[in-house]
Formats: sequence, structure tokens, C-alpha cells
Amino acid sequence: DRIPLKRALLSVSDKTGLIEFARALASRGVELLSTGGTAKALREAGLSVIDVAQVTGFPEMMDGRVKTLHPVVHGGLLALRDNAEHMAAATSHGIGMIDLLVVNLYPFEETVAKGADYDDCIENIDIGGPAMIRAASKNHAFVTVVVDVQDYASVLAELDANDDTTRYAFRQRQAQIAYARTAAYDAAVSAWMAQAIGEETPRRRSFSGELAQTLRYGENPHQSAAFYKDGSDRAGVATAKQWQGKELSYNNINDTDAAFELVAEFDPAEGHAVAIIKHANPCGVARGATAVEAYRRAYDCDRTSAFGGIVALNCTLDADTARAITEIFTEVVIAPDATEEAREIFAAKKNLRLLTTGGLPDPAAAGTSFRQVAGGFLVQGRDNGRVSRDDLKVVTKRQPSAEELDDLLFAWTVAKHVKSNAIVYVKDGATVGVGAGQMSRVDSTRIGKRKSEDMAEALGLSEALTNGSAVSSDAFFPFADGIEALAAAGAKAVIQPGGSMRDAEVIEAADRLGLAMVFTGQRHFRH
Ligand code: 5GP
Repeated sequence: DRIPLKRALLSVSDKTGLIEFARALASRGVELLSTGGTAKALREAGLSVIDVAQVTGFPEMMDGRVKTLHPVVHGGLLALRDNAEHMAAATSHGIGMIDLLVVNLYPFEETVAKGADYDDCIENIDIGGPAMIRAASKNHAFVTVVVDVQDYASVLAELDANDDTTRYAFRQRQAQIAYARTAAYDAAVSAWMAQAIGEETPRRRSFSGELAQTLRYGENPHQSAAFYKDGSDRAGVATAKQWQGKELSYNNINDTDAAFELVAEFDPAEGHAVAIIKHANPCGVARGATAVEAYRRAYDCDRTSAFGGIVALNCTLDADTARAITEIFTEVVIAPDATEEAREIFAAKKNLRLLTTGGLPDPAAAGTSFRQVAGGFLVQGRDNGRVSRDDLKVVTKRQPSAEELDDLLFAWTVAKHVKSNAIVYVKDGATVGVGAGQMSRVDSTRIGKRKSEDMAEALGLSEALTNGSAVSSDAFFPFADGIEALAAAGAKAVIQPGGSMRDAEVIEAADRLGLAMVFTGQRHFRH
């Protein structure tokens, strides 16, 4: 199963590492074939190379659309070396074998990302490259294929370790990677076309990802797991720099994402905000005049649950905040940035992971989210819905005060990131009670209140902070009982989508109980 490399075809758009790799191949006696730009780069580096055009007998033509699409190339990649008929056909047609194919494709994804026009994108769809990659991969019994610059080193290591040959298992692995690359490439083309022609629900669609990290296990220890990146540059857990601590787990990644997406809703220009997350739900979110104040206020929402949580900041992690965070056990901290002093404080806590992202993701950005169901997957646009003061409709006799309006909008934003049914009590820009993930909205209402009472007791307060609070509900109240439960908790103002059949009853209850209530006209289910 060991195949020596006698002849290689190199055709790469990304020329990173090309010269060093080609030189290493040449020094091992590998003959080099190449397409126009690649051959030119190699020649300029003093390497001797044969033009593919010379081998095919055709010049590269039609703006490069046709360069390597020729039997002399594809025969050289596809011929079964142990098949007498194949080899006889190769000999009679003057087809030389190609043992190594090194291709990286026209930068289609990058072209789309930089906002190129339709024709430019079309021209950046590589045809000959994927054709050769698929041919070489199919014939991995004999041919080694390389589609990633990062694999140049692995090929050389393979040759070094195996007397200048590659093993079957190595070629198989390279072929598997190569097919994933061509599949991802066509997936990107198809996704771009769907967008370009305004097809939101194309009849067929595919997704792809690149392994970022194998994980020790999934949600539970008996489940295998891995983390894949989809190539987007959205600031967050996939693109963050990890400064310290052991590798993130599956649950850590999920929770860290939830934490950072939530805190990113709060524009740092409007002040510091901190979110503490457990099991993808916030157990405290707060604004503060400083980051540490925001952290302490978030922590005071539910100190019990915050233990072992994930902390996200919308601002730079400073020393004061770092010190406050280390007072309890925290799994992960994620922030756009961290001061050197803050990093030094964390360095003493070996198990604490610190991630910095260099920025915040845009909460209003469009995107796609999907989830698996038996036999398929559900796809939807990401929930980038946001409401501002102007979108609110006051439906009660009592108007909310300016302070209540601030808290209502804050509660609404937090509730968007709480599993349904979500009830979020807020006072002075800090959550004071969160009811999450219940099957009944009234239960979420009660849970948020009870948690607030527990905290009041722990903090030695005379009454629960839900008293005088503003409350958000992620979806409408189907009955008046939810409003009654909120009033019983001492809430003074309510924000909810509205739109229930019984809105009139619900509004009547609010009026009767002296609550101010606003409708957003938008719902934030999160299941
Ligand atoms: P070069 O820079 O060597 O001129 O071109 C390298 C690029 O051409 C590679 O990305 C390779 O995948 C692509 N390529 C090779 N053969 C063909 C072909 O026949 N048609 C098209 N459209 N692209 C090709």
C-alpha cells in the first residue's frame, strides 16, 4: 500500500507555503507539473516545472475556465495502476501517471465575503480544481491528494516516516478531507446562489464545517462530540482566543455562546453589561456604571445558581471585575478584551477559562440557525428581532414611567435569551428574578418570584426585589392569571408581545391591579 511520489500536479490559488513545499518535493526527486500562476511562482523561485498546457497540448483558455480539464490530466489521476487495461490505455494515449495532487480552489467564499458582484462570484467558481480533487480522491488507492495548505507538513512527515512513500491509510484520510472540501465548496456556491436569487427556502441545501476541536464527550459522558466551525467570522466562542484553563467542554461551548450572544445585545456605548449563564439560561444580567458593578448586580440576582456559571461581559474585563469573579467558582469568562492585570489575576485560577473575542457580534445581523429532528432538520433565520421605545404600544390606563420603560426594554432583551416560557423581573437595570423553561407561563412567574424571595433572604433584604419591578414575558399571556401572579409578586410594569385572544381580559386585569403594560408586537420563543 506504499506509493512513491514520482510526479505531482500543483495548482493553487492560495500560494501560502507553496514554494517551500514544492522545493521539498523536488529535493525528493518529484517531478512538478503546474498551471499558469502556480508554475510562474515556482519558476520564479528557481524550481523546474512542466506546464500543464505543454502536457495537454492545449493552452489555458477561456479566462482559465479550461486549464486542466483534459484526459491526459484526468487519466493520470484516475488510472488504476494495477489494472493492465488502464495502463495499456494510458500508454497508448501518452498519459503519464500523477501520484500527488495539490490543489486549493479559487477563493469563492472570500469573494462572496468581500461583497463582490454576481459575475465576479460566478467567475470565482472553480471547475477544474474540484474535478481533479474528486478524481484524485476517488483513486486514493494510488494517488495522494492535498487540499489544505496546513497538510503540506503532514505530507512531508508522511514521506519522511515511510521511505519517501505514502501509506494507504494516509491517502484515505486525505481523500476524506478532500471530499469534505469540495462538498463545502459547492455548499457555499449553492448557499450564495440561494441568497442571490432570493430563495429563502431552497429545495435542497447543505451545510459544512471544519473541525475546530474534538471534545472529550457531548452533553453527557457517553456521547461523543466535536466542535466544528462554519467559517463565519462572527465574534464569539468559535473565533475567540482562549488564554488559559483546560479545553472547553460541549456544554461550556453551548453556554458560553448563549452568554456572549445575550450580552452583545447591550451596546457598550450605553454602558457596561454582564450576564451570568447556567445551562444556557441567564441566572443574572445587569448593567452597571462599571464592569464590576454590573457583575456584582448580576451575581446578586441568583447567587446560588451563579456558582459554576459562565460570565460574559460586553466590555473589557478589568482587574476589579476579575477579582470579583474569582470570589466564586466560575467555569468560563468571555469578553471582547481583558487587561493584562485582569489576566494576571485569572492566571492564579488554573481551572478558569478566559476567552477574548476582539469585539462583539452584531445582534441585528441576519443568519441561519438549524436544529435536528428525526429524519431532518429545521432551518430558520436567527432571532435578530429587536424592539425600541418607538415600537412599544401602551395598552393600560397607566403609562409606564421613564425608569420603568428602561427596565421593561432591558427585561425584554434578556427574555429573548431565556428558554420559554420566560418571565424576567428587572429592577434598575438588573434582573431580580428569572423564571425559565417552564411548560406553564404562570409557573415561570412563580419561580422568578420565589428565586427573588430566596435572594432577598440571603441578602438580608426586607422584601423581595420583584416588588416594584418591571417584567417581561417572551410571549403573550393567554389568560389573566399570569398578570395576577405578577401583581402578587409586586410587579409594577409589564412588557409582552400581546396578540392573545384574551388580550382584553389581560389588559383589564392589569388596569384593575394598577399595572402599566406595553405590547411589543413581537415574540421571542426560544425552545
Ligand atoms: P494558477 O494560479 O496556477 O493559474 O491557477 C490555480 C487555480 O486554478 C487553482 O485554484 C485550481 O483549482 C484552478 N484550476 C485548475 N484547473 C482548472 C480548470 O480547468 N478550470 C478552472 N476553472 N480552474 C482550474
